[in-house]
Parts: sequence; C-alpha cells; structure tokens
Amino acid sequence: MDAGNEWLIQNQQTVRSANERLSTLAVEVVPAGQFVPFICECADGACLGRVDMKVAEYEDVHRDRDQYSVLRAHQVVDGEKVVEQRPLFDIVSKAALSG
Ligand SMILES: [Zn+2]
Repeated sequence: MDAGNEWLIQNQQTVRSANERLSTLAVEVVPAGQFVPFICECADGACLGRVDMKVAEYEDVHRDRDQYSVLRAHQVVDGEKVVEQRPLFDIVSKAALSG
C-alpha cells in the first residue's frame, strides 16, 4: 500500500471516530427513527458532506468494520468497492484491502 493511500485511510478513520461519537450521543438525545447528520466517510479529508441516516441504520452499516458510508461518487481509496447503494449514500467496503 502506498503512502498516499495510507494518508487517505487516516482521514477516513478520523471521520469514522467523529461519527461514532455522534452515534453514541444521538442514541441518548435523538428520538428513535429521527435522522442524524453524520459526516461523509469518503477519503477526501476536506469533505464535510452530510449523510443523513438514523442511528440504527448507522450501526447496521458499520457492524462490518470494513464498511463506510459515503456520498455518491465521492473519493474512494484504491481497493475499496461499492457494495450497496442506498437512496442517500453508498456503502463502500475495504474488505478487499484487509483480506
Ligand atoms: Zn465525501
């Protein structure tokens, strides 16, 4: 894996952590079934795209740790694949990268 790719993945991990904190918080304060403004988990470090989804949906997508929710056509890392398209975002997987 080249250094550029690694840097992109680092960006994604930062956003992932922020989203996880948001999801933990939202469970407490947001009524179930209400949309929460998560951040796009694409590889573009400057992207602050909004991915609206329910906390349950976020947890469902991220139960597989290799899966990321990104806005359609946003930057992906080499080796990532779109595994599912939902109405508001795509789910990409790094499964091919981690083996
Ligand atoms: Zn994005």
